[in-house]
Amino acid sequence: MAIDFTFTDEQQAYRDALRDVFARECGSAEQLERLTDGHKKHHSDELSRKLGEAGLLGPSIEEAYGGAGGGIVEEMILLEEMMKAGAPIGAYAVSLIVAGAVQKFGTEEQKQLVLGNVAAGGVEAIAMSEPESGSDVASLTTKAEKVEGGWKLNGVKVWISNAHIADRILIVCRDAATDSSAKKHEGLAMIWVDPKADGVKVERIETMGGADEVNYVYLDDVVVDDDAVLGQVGNGWLQLTSGLNVERLIIGAIAVGQATRAFEGALQYAKDRVQFGRPIGTFQVQQHRLADMATEVELARLLVYKVAGDVARNPTALFPKEASMAKVWATEVAERTVNAAFKIHGGYGYALEYDIARQVPFSLVATTFGGTNDIQRNIIAKTLGL
Ligand SMILES: Cc1cc2nc3c(=O)[nH]c(=O)nc-3n(C[C@H](O)[C@H](O)[C@H](O)COP(=O)(O)OP(=O)(O)OC[C@H]3O[C@@H](n4cnc5c(N)ncnc54)[C@H](O)[C@@H]3O)c2cc1C
Repeated sequence: MAIDFTFTDEQQAYRDALRDVFARECGSAEQLERLTDGHKKHHSDELSRKLGEAGLLGPSIEEAYGGAGGGIVEEMILLEEMMKAGAPIGAYAVSLIVAGAVQKFGTEEQKQLVLGNVAAGGVEAIAMSEPESGSDVASLTTKAEKVEGGWKLNGVKVWISNAHIADRILIVCRDAATDSSAKKHEGLAMIWVDPKADGVKVERIETMGGADEVNYVYLDDVVVDDDAVLGQVGNGWLQLTSGLNVERLIIGAIAVGQATRAFEGALQYAKDRVQFGRPIGTFQVQQHRLADMATEVELARLLVYKVAGDVARNPTALFPKEASMAKVWATEVAERTVNAAFKIHGGYGYALEYDIARQVPFSLVATTFGGTNDIQRNIIAKTLGL
């Protein structure tokens, strides 16, 4: 069995192009400050559009829709480099999740619209979670009622990333005509709404991350046309679950990027900071801490790219165990690495002047979104016959 973890020449060239553009566009604290309006926004439309124009977004999207016609491995490269650079294009990951569903279930028109938008740097949002339906997402109650020529939606969604800047929100809802004795996974649908349409209200949730990011979405008699349906009404659960492996890999790649950024920052700090007349990196405690960080991050990278390679070779298989393992391991490595990097910075890790302070909230919450790591462990355990 040959195991080859090296990138192709094209993949290396893509990674190098990303490194160049991120260093040029958002490599300094001043640039980040400007693009995020003083860290109040986690997504810069300006930067995202610039990357789209340069053909650097949507590497897995078919060329006919504005992408590069590559695959999941190229997306991993983009997400890892984006997080490693701290590039403020935080809405890209969720847009990519929506793109995955459209690639599989969209009409030609929907592909042109949504895939084209993601490749150009636009923003797509997806709304599954509700106040009473988090981990148990299939219990959601947002209703879609059939009306002449379309659907009428009512319900409340919570935690919806980027709804405030999205061009569309894909609502996961329940067909009101579903038999009341049906199982909770039956009768689900995916239907787009325009965030600016009558009856849609988007309300920001204040978070420890500080920036504009997540929202409540209230739907009050929102009427949409029949062509706002993605795939088939009633098929929503299958449509949702068919993309979960990629969603977990997306979060895994982001976590690898974040962990790498935290590690590299801490390594530099350990070389620069002098106490007791010598750089703190010369103390064995710090050397071992950094050695452990480097080892864990490398393992996380290997696992994420290994599973991405499996998916690339067999795109119709779901790899639930492997994708959940990649999400759990990478996000928990990022959490531990950021924590260790924080300690290496001493008191300065607490100052917002240092990048590591801004990394703490995300490193914690990445273990929660996209299905909490407890739920991922449930999935892994199920594959062990437990
Ligand atoms: C920053 C952020 C961005 C998000 N973006 C989106 C988005 O764009 N779209 C969207 O639809 N949702 C989004 N979410 C929602 C996210 O997917 C949910 O928060 C997550 O699925 C957990 O649901 P919950 O918060 O209701 O927690 P709960 O489900 O209430 O869980 C609470 C605790 O109970 C545990 N628990 C629950 N059930 C079990 C079980 N069966 N076994 C063991 N432990 C269990 C959980 O692991 C957790 O520790 C986002 C959340 C955050 C924080």
